[in-house]
Amino acid sequence: MTDKVLVFDTTLRDGEQAAGTRLGSRDKLMVARQLARLNVDIIEAGYPASSPEDLHAVQQIAEEITGPIICALSRAVAEDIRACGKALAKAKRPRIHTGIGASDVHILGKFRDEKYGRDLTEKRVRIVEMGIEAVKLARQYADDVQFYAEDAGRSDPAFLFLMLQAVIEAGATVVNIPDTTGYSVPEQYGALIRGIRENVPNIDRATISVHCHNDLGMAVSNALAGIRNGARQVEGTINGIGERAGNAAIEEVVMALRTRADYYGVHTGVEAREFCRTSRMVADMLGMAVPPNKAVVGANAFAHSSGIHVDGFLKNRDTYEIMRPEDIGLEESRVVLTARTGRHGLRDRLNKLGYELSKEELDQAYARFLLVADKKQEVFDEDLAAILHEELQPVPDAFLLDYLQIYSGTSAIPTATVRLRAKDEVRQGASIGNGPVDAVYRAIASVTKTSARLTRYDIRAVTSGTEAMGEVTVRLEQGDKKATGRGASTDVIEASARAYVDGLNKLASQGEAARDDVGSGPSL
Ligand code: MN
Repeated sequence: MTDKVLVFDTTLRDGEQAAGTRLGSRDKLMVARQLARLNVDIIEAGYPASSPEDLHAVQQIAEEITGPIICALSRAVAEDIRACGKALAKAKRPRIHTGIGASDVHILGKFRDEKYGRDLTEKRVRIVEMGIEAVKLARQYADDVQFYAEDAGRSDPAFLFLMLQAVIEAGATVVNIPDTTGYSVPEQYGALIRGIRENVPNIDRATISVHCHNDLGMAVSNALAGIRNGARQVEGTINGIGERAGNAAIEEVVMALRTRADYYGVHTGVEAREFCRTSRMVADMLGMAVPPNKAVVGANAFAHSSGIHVDGFLKNRDTYEIMRPEDIGLEESRVVLTARTGRHGLRDRLNKLGYELSKEELDQAYARFLLVADKKQEVFDEDLAAILHEELQPVPDAFLLDYLQIYSGTSAIPTATVRLRAKDEVRQGASIGNGPVDAVYRAIASVTKTSARLTRYDIRAVTSGTEAMGEVTVRLEQGDKKATGRGASTDVIEASARAYVDGLNKLASQGEAARDDVGSGPSL
């Protein structure tokens, strides 16, 4: 058996599905480029059948990204598989990922209709047939077909073995054993993988893949147990984002395999020095901040603060450090840009952070950069990311914040006056509220006559210090449409207003036809 473990990244599929926000194709492409630099082996780019936008995003990634295999997800449904075939038509190395429920809970719950059989025994037979048909159809579009046995973690192993044998016979090159619900524990999941190797007669013709969820905090442990028992592909996401409690964090799996190569005896092809940059980009793009104590990429992961530790650390790094910060690309010296930084300087820095901009985008970003540099003198990498995400939105602005004034204080009634531009029209209004942000939001809501509901409001300081930029993320819901708005400014009230207006613009850009029903699709 090979000692290389393939790394399958599903940040753009499982991760995006969970973030509650859709990345546009431009943002997806930006992340895909960074994943290619990270040198993952497979990028799962999306679920093309979910929407025309996602199909387009997968198409663009398939066309441009040539290093890693580009994979697209489908159910065991002909329409889904054809959408994958279309999306991957121009990929150099396409892979279709298809599959079906394997546990009795899934089979009885999702295939309740009599047409799938009258009882569990009949349904099981039909499900395996559907899996075989799906793999055969997928093979017409790609030589590389991965099959997922949804909820394998809770399946009857004997049935799972039969199912895997059948789909490998039908042409599956990879078999994915998802612990969809995060129910497994490492010893048991490892034993399941070993059982597959020992009981599926044609298993040497396929690679076993592990896809673990973190509901009990064991996604990484389960994935490692699977590898230890013979899996040679591991699925996960950057920062461990994903459905519910998330997926196995790729940076943790890779650094565990690397740091404990003495134990696992396997390696990956991942360029670990890109982890920091990738982690930051994903956190910024999806508006999902990384907790400071997160393993490997958290802000405190390499901070030694206890006096005793620091003393030992200075004498000999090995005393308390099992990984070096430079191994994951954590730069020691921070690069600071100022208002004197030219356009080239800004572009170079952005490229180093993994962002490639067109000339128009750079112009836009530079104009905003100068405004920020003017206010806060020193502009850090984190500030640049915040500027980018707000400034380079792919959506047209239905509303533009033109003017904002707040009146607030310990004994004042918070009052906000806003003026917005909407096409050629200028609208203004004022409101009082429970606090300045509430007043601003009420004023914007009345001016825009929106019926959107604010379901989340988060504010964070982008860097440290009182002159730091504040970044606000809001979640808006209107009917079945959802959008995430972001705004950044050295003034947190202004950042709040910008985020709200951004969210409204995104809702407006979705139109009536937009589908947001990925949840009803595969959730392996
Ligand atoms: Mn999943």
